[in-house]
Amino acid sequence: MLPLSRRDWLCTATAGTLGWIGPGLFAAPEKPRKARIAITLDLEMSAQYPKREQTEWNYEKGNLDDATKRYSVEAAKRAKELGGVIHFFCVGRVLEHPSVDWLKQIAADGHAVGNHTYDHVNVKATKPEETQFRFQRAPWLVEGLTAREIIDRNIRVTTKALKARAGIEVNGFRTPGGFNNGLTDKPDVQQMLLDQGFTWVSSKYPAHLYGKVGETPTADIFESIVKAQADAQPFVYPSGLIEVPMSPISDVGAFRSTRWSLDAYLKAIRLAIEWAIENRAVFDLLVHPSCLVVEDPDFRIVRLICELVRTAGDRAEIVTLDKIAATIGK
Ligand SMILES: [Zn+2]
Repeated sequence: MLPLSRRDWLCTATAGTLGWIGPGLFAAPEKPRKARIAITLDLEMSAQYPKREQTEWNYEKGNLDDATKRYSVEAAKRAKELGGVIHFFCVGRVLEHPSVDWLKQIAADGHAVGNHTYDHVNVKATKPEETQFRFQRAPWLVEGLTAREIIDRNIRVTTKALKARAGIEVNGFRTPGGFNNGLTDKPDVQQMLLDQGFTWVSSKYPAHLYGKVGETPTADIFESIVKAQADAQPFVYPSGLIEVPMSPISDVGAFRSTRWSLDAYLKAIRLAIEWAIENRAVFDLLVHPSCLVVEDPDFRIVRLICELVRTAGDRAEIVTLDKIAATIGK
């Protein structure tokens, strides 16, 4: 769907968020009427999954295994059945596989698919070898290109591959890795994305506490995660690019890095979403099917989120990130 035009938005705003109080007069912005909750799954392999010693994925992030594809399809199906929708971000190399029917099906069912670069490159890299492990081991693949050219091409060909191989129109861009300051320090990367036709990016992941590895997270950890939600709200960069941050805590941060239990993760997500609903704010879940296929085989995270939003009634809705971006900074 097209984003709201300015005129449509003004009509909506007049009816709601700005509080129309007379011809040409607007009161201070009120809280949006609904919290906007997004469920995002990054389609890539994650190091240490499905087995701890598996780190070769760092060189082939887009070489999805069948279990990860099945989990993605099933998560999309379950979310839809429960009234939700999922925003996927696809590493382009996935599209080299013999079949991409599973991804086509996800898109046909109304879920969004965005660009996550072709090889999972670091968009802030300044040297070719810093862009991705694959290019460290096989530098001849990028001979002659600067880091900036590698990054630009890595994003551009993913948009093309999604269209050419799966007939999917790209829906937004998420940076591999999250940055505490988003792209604030990288106006050139903001411009690169704008030049490629993107109006929004999901690159910011605010700082928060994780606790000690292997220990049950304590109250101050949950508190820190809830507090970080205010720092994970959408905004507009001076360039005009819109940022829709990722909301802590990510699955790999909790399960892989800190060895949380699923129950601890569910608690953190519940508290964060309750904060978002109370404040009519945005919550943008960041998870990876390659990790959840091991850590959450029964889809409890997706089910919990759909249930929290259903219970919230008209105070919350599950949306894709483009819908959130369409309401920011107009
Ligand atoms: Zn990623």
